[in-house]
Amino acid sequence: MECSLRIAVDVGGHTVTVGLVDAGSFQVLGHVSHPTPEGGSVAPLARLIRREASRLCGDAGVSIPDQVRMAVPGMLSRERDRILKAPNVPGLDGVWLRQVRSALEGEMGGPVRVLWENDANCYALGEWARGVARGMGDLVLFTLGTGIGCGIILGGRLLIGSRGMAGEAGHLVVRDGGRCGCGGVGHLEAHSGTGAVEALGGGDFRSLWEEFRAGVSRTEVESFLDGLARGMASVFHLLDPQAVVLGGGASRAEGLLEELLPRMGAYLAEPFRGSVRVLISQLGDLAPLIGAAALG
Ligand SMILES: [Zn+2]
Repeated sequence: MECSLRIAVDVGGHTVTVGLVDAGSFQVLGHVSHPTPEGGSVAPLARLIRREASRLCGDAGVSIPDQVRMAVPGMLSRERDRILKAPNVPGLDGVWLRQVRSALEGEMGGPVRVLWENDANCYALGEWARGVARGMGDLVLFTLGTGIGCGIILGGRLLIGSRGMAGEAGHLVVRDGGRCGCGGVGHLEAHSGTGAVEALGGGDFRSLWEEFRAGVSRTEVESFLDGLARGMASVFHLLDPQAVVLGGGASRAEGLLEELLPRMGAYLAEPFRGSVRVLISQLGDLAPLIGAAALG
């Protein structure tokens, strides 16, 4: 079993999670989260990964695997050898895979095989490997958080695109207005990212959502639901997936599907209406870790 073990790492703007995952069964044998070190720069990140990998492997009674898989928050080159843009982790902006490999090899004292993938793509791979989308050939996953990420699996393969940037559904144009963090206008993320909802509502997403569910008029929550309904309807029309899976913090808002499905129905073409599936992530925060372990 030991040969199928991998160190899986989920790098976020605030938190880095390191896990020991069996890539045969996709079982997470152990995982631990820490604040992202010093803007996510390569050297402290490699130190953190090595330290936590040692601890996890010590607890499991196995030697540290030479296989590291990473979920990273950014747009990657088509060849997956460089992070082109990592808005929330400046330390990884423009970083090459070989820099990370070299830092990890320095820490671990031997050759290491490192692969990485966009975190929302890893999320989709995780739900596909062991979660709610297991066995599906065609699925689209949205991560609903401050920003909105997306991963697309078509015909059993992750969709990469001609330049490596396919599946940026957070930047689907859903409505007039709303300046997006990417520099564009009218994007889904600018209307339905929890960051946008909180900026408009003047409170945290969870309490705004609870007020809305209790019957208080909340235009920013209506705007969140409407943007998401438009974006998801467009995705169903464009790709006809078996399911759209919703993950990320806001996907766990109580009653989300109950509110969302009727709104989406209004935007769907007749043959799609009543026959599309929307599912909530089963693995939650562990999905990107499991998906990363599935790489390669
Ligand atoms: Zn955008």
